[in-house]
Amino acid sequence: MNVLGLHHITAMASDPRANFDFYTRVLGLRFVKKSVNQDDPGTYHLYYGDATGSPGSALTFFPWPGLRRGRPGSGQAYATGFSIPAGSIPFWKERLAKLGVPTEAVTKRFGDEVLTTFDPDGLRLELIATAESDPREPAPANDIPAGFRIRGFHSSTLGLTDSAATVNVLTQLMGYRLVSKEGSRARYTVANGGPGSYVDLLTDPALPRGLNGAGTIHHVAFRTPTDSAQQDAHSEIGRSGLHVSPIIDRAYFKSIYYREPTGILFEIATDQPGFAIDEPVESLGTKLGLPPHLESHRREIEAALPPLIIQP
Ligand code: ZN
Repeated sequence: MNVLGLHHITAMASDPRANFDFYTRVLGLRFVKKSVNQDDPGTYHLYYGDATGSPGSALTFFPWPGLRRGRPGSGQAYATGFSIPAGSIPFWKERLAKLGVPTEAVTKRFGDEVLTTFDPDGLRLELIATAESDPREPAPANDIPAGFRIRGFHSSTLGLTDSAATVNVLTQLMGYRLVSKEGSRARYTVANGGPGSYVDLLTDPALPRGLNGAGTIHHVAFRTPTDSAQQDAHSEIGRSGLHVSPIIDRAYFKSIYYREPTGILFEIATDQPGFAIDEPVESLGTKLGLPPHLESHRREIEAALPPLIIQP
């Protein structure tokens, strides 16, 4: 399979405005797309990413007002890592403390410092200060100096009680390879490697089963370059015996979905056409993006959604 790394990660939230404030104002990500859940157009689908929302940067949310909290655990993507420059942990520690955002003690992982924090729904996020080269352009953020900004995903950590079947899917089907092991964690990479490519398997037989809800990950999407690479991936997943969805046009990318053996929902998404297909890069996130079949209901849909205050 032609997989290039992480494409986007989608999570569940309970309050669209608190979610919007946290990711744009606290983490300084760019709000790159305001859309609706295509299966539930009365709720938002919100996308936060780098300067242009490039593949490998977008953390996206389905915010359902009042959704009960989930519990991160096994059979889930357990934590989401962002790449920040080496040496920027003290800045983030101070910033998050000043803003009243909870953090855990800084830890070391494969030589990098990791600061764990939580969004308003308790979603587990890791700021990973890596010395590895990461030339991706972060979103501009007024109050975060350029040398400290989030550059996109670093890794997704999957929670497992037994990793054998998942390792098999990653390495035999998806082209991932082992980088290193440290304690109960094993790191895998694909294609050119580096931040944005990593999948960490955290294997702990005592990890309780994860429960879906606000503050948990819904699915992890992987990049594939083209429609034809996606068609090939679709055939290979089918041949492996896993159930795979048909190819679905999500307007900004095309998607296929399958569950790895412990139940974590994976998606393979195309790099093209991207978020600039229905609004210019300069004004990404300002217009409500709707798929063609919902366009005739734009007025009612817009009226039913809570407004989000977009900073200039
Ligand atoms: Zn997705």
